[in-house]
Amino acid sequence: MTIAVDFDGTIVEHAYPKIGKPIPFALEVLKRLQREDHHKLILWTMREGKLLQEAIDYCEKNGLKFYACNKNYPDEEWKEDDSRKIGADIYIDDRNIGGLPDWGIIYKIIKSGSNTIQDLDFLMDDSRPKTKKNWLIRLGEALDNSQRYQY
Ligand SMILES: [Mg+2]
Repeated sequence: MTIAVDFDGTIVEHAYPKIGKPIPFALEVLKRLQREDHHKLILWTMREGKLLQEAIDYCEKNGLKFYACNKNYPDEEWKEDDSRKIGADIYIDDRNIGGLPDWGIIYKIIKSGSNTIQDLDFLMDDSRPKTKKNWLIRLGEALDNSQRYQY
Protein backbone atom coordinates (compact mmCIF):
# COMPACT_ATOMS: atom_id res chain seq x y z
CA MET A 1 0.00 0.00 0.00
CA THR A 2 0.96 3.59 -0.40
CA ILE A 3 0.73 5.47 2.87
CA ALA A 4 0.99 9.25 3.00
CA VAL A 5 2.18 10.59 6.36
CA ASP A 6 2.11 14.11 7.66
CA PHE A 7 5.03 15.40 9.77
CA ASP A 8 4.14 18.21 12.21
CA GLY A 9 1.67 16.98 14.81
CA THR A 10 1.87 13.44 13.41
CA ILE A 11 5.47 12.22 13.61
CA VAL A 12 6.59 15.00 15.96
CA GLU A 13 4.65 17.38 18.18
CA HIS A 14 3.67 20.75 16.70
CA ALA A 15 6.56 23.22 16.96
CA TYR A 16 6.63 24.42 13.34
CA PRO A 17 8.95 25.75 11.95
CA LYS A 18 11.06 23.96 14.55
CA ILE A 19 10.95 20.21 14.94
CA GLY A 20 8.88 19.17 17.91
CA LYS A 21 9.41 16.33 20.33
CA PRO A 22 8.85 12.87 18.90
CA ILE A 23 5.32 11.51 19.15
CA PRO A 24 5.60 8.15 20.90
CA PHE A 25 6.06 5.19 18.55
CA ALA A 26 5.47 7.16 15.32
CA LEU A 27 8.88 6.40 13.82
CA GLU A 28 8.93 2.88 15.23
CA VAL A 29 5.55 2.03 13.70
CA LEU A 30 6.44 3.55 10.32
CA LYS A 31 9.76 1.71 10.16
CA ARG A 32 8.07 -1.52 11.14
CA LEU A 33 5.37 -1.19 8.48
CA GLN A 34 8.03 -0.52 5.89
CA ARG A 35 10.19 -3.45 7.02
CA GLU A 36 7.42 -6.01 7.54
CA ASP A 37 5.08 -5.29 4.65
CA HIS A 38 7.09 -3.09 2.27
CA HIS A 39 4.52 -0.30 2.26
CA LYS A 40 5.50 2.77 0.27
CA LEU A 41 5.71 5.63 2.73
CA ILE A 42 5.37 9.14 1.40
CA LEU A 43 6.09 12.16 3.54
CA TRP A 44 3.13 14.47 2.89
CA THR A 45 3.67 17.79 4.58
CA MET A 46 3.16 21.51 4.05
CA ARG A 47 6.91 21.96 4.65
CA GLU A 48 8.88 23.02 1.61
CA GLY A 49 12.52 23.82 0.82
CA LYS A 50 14.83 24.01 3.81
CA LEU A 51 12.10 23.14 6.33
CA LEU A 52 11.14 20.06 4.30
CA GLN A 53 14.78 18.99 4.18
CA GLU A 54 15.02 19.36 7.97
CA ALA A 55 12.06 17.01 8.38
CA ILE A 56 13.56 14.49 5.93
CA ASP A 57 16.93 14.68 7.72
CA TYR A 58 15.28 14.23 11.10
CA CYS A 59 13.51 11.08 9.95
CA GLU A 60 16.59 9.67 8.20
CA LYS A 61 18.73 10.35 11.26
CA ASN A 62 16.21 8.24 13.15
CA GLY A 63 16.31 5.42 10.63
CA LEU A 64 13.27 6.23 8.48
CA LYS A 65 13.77 6.84 4.78
CA PHE A 66 10.65 7.76 2.81
CA TYR A 67 9.94 6.45 -0.68
CA ALA A 68 9.14 10.03 -1.74
CA CYS A 69 8.53 13.42 -0.12
CA ASN A 70 5.62 15.61 -1.25
CA LYS A 71 5.64 13.62 -4.50
CA ASN A 72 4.03 10.44 -5.80
CA TYR A 73 7.42 8.94 -6.67
CA PRO A 74 10.99 10.17 -6.17
CA ASP A 75 11.65 11.71 -9.60
CA GLU A 76 8.21 13.17 -10.17
CA GLU A 77 8.27 16.62 -11.72
CA TRP A 78 5.25 18.77 -10.94
CA LYS A 79 3.56 20.48 -13.84
CA GLU A 80 1.20 23.37 -13.38
CA ASP A 81 -1.99 21.43 -14.13
CA ASP A 82 -1.08 18.31 -12.14
CA SER A 83 -3.23 17.50 -9.16
CA ARG A 84 -1.54 18.55 -5.96
CA LYS A 85 -3.01 15.65 -4.06
CA ILE A 86 -0.74 12.69 -3.47
CA GLY A 87 -2.33 9.41 -4.48
CA ALA A 88 -2.27 7.17 -1.40
CA ASP A 89 -4.31 4.29 -0.02
CA ILE A 90 -4.14 5.70 3.50
CA TYR A 91 -3.38 9.18 4.85
CA ILE A 92 -2.10 9.59 8.39
CA ASP A 93 -2.52 13.16 9.58
CA ASP A 94 -3.23 14.84 12.89
CA ARG A 95 -5.93 16.84 11.10
CA ASN A 96 -7.94 13.69 10.39
CA ILE A 97 -11.52 13.85 11.57
CA GLY A 98 -11.33 12.51 15.08
CA GLY A 99 -7.68 13.51 15.40
CA LEU A 100 -4.60 11.33 15.33
CA PRO A 101 -5.11 7.91 16.86
CA ASP A 102 -2.44 6.43 19.08
CA TRP A 103 0.33 4.98 16.87
CA GLY A 104 -0.29 1.51 18.31
CA ILE A 105 -3.83 1.76 16.96
CA ILE A 106 -2.58 3.04 13.60
CA TYR A 107 -0.34 -0.02 13.42
CA LYS A 108 -3.23 -2.38 14.20
CA ILE A 109 -5.52 -0.73 11.65
CA ILE A 110 -2.98 -0.97 8.85
CA LYS A 111 -2.02 -4.55 9.76
CA SER A 112 -5.73 -5.50 9.75
CA GLY A 113 -5.86 -4.62 6.05
CA SER A 114 -9.13 -2.72 6.51
CA ASN A 115 -9.70 0.97 6.84
CA THR A 116 -13.47 1.15 7.26
CA ILE A 117 -14.94 2.04 10.61
CA GLN A 118 -17.36 -0.91 10.60
CA ASP A 119 -14.45 -3.34 10.42
CA LEU A 120 -12.56 -1.80 13.29
CA ASP A 121 -14.57 -3.30 16.15
CA PHE A 122 -11.48 -5.18 17.28
CA LEU A 123 -10.13 -1.85 18.54
CA MET A 124 -12.93 -1.49 21.04
CA ASP A 125 -12.43 -2.41 24.66
CA ASP A 126 -13.41 -6.06 25.24
CA SER A 127 -15.09 -5.17 28.54
CA ARG A 128 -17.89 -3.29 26.74
CA PRO A 129 -21.35 -4.86 26.65
CA LYS A 130 -21.64 -7.43 23.90
CA THR A 131 -24.76 -5.85 22.37
CA LYS A 132 -23.74 -4.15 19.20
CA LYS A 133 -24.24 -0.39 19.07
CA ASN A 134 -23.98 1.49 15.85
CA TRP A 135 -20.98 3.75 15.34
CA LEU A 136 -22.96 6.97 15.88
CA ILE A 137 -23.98 5.86 19.37
CA ARG A 138 -20.40 4.84 20.11
CA LEU A 139 -19.13 8.18 18.83
CA GLY A 140 -21.62 9.98 21.11
CA GLU A 141 -20.43 7.93 24.09
CA ALA A 142 -16.80 8.64 23.25
CA LEU A 143 -17.52 12.39 23.09
CA ASP A 144 -19.35 12.20 26.44
CA ASN A 145 -16.39 10.43 27.98
CA SER A 146 -13.90 12.93 26.58
CA GLN A 147 -15.85 15.81 28.15
CA ARG A 148 -15.63 14.12 31.52
CA TYR A 149 -11.85 14.45 31.50
CA GLN A 150 -11.59 18.12 30.58
CA TYR A 151 -11.30 19.46 34.11
MG1 LIG B 1 0.03 18.22 10.85
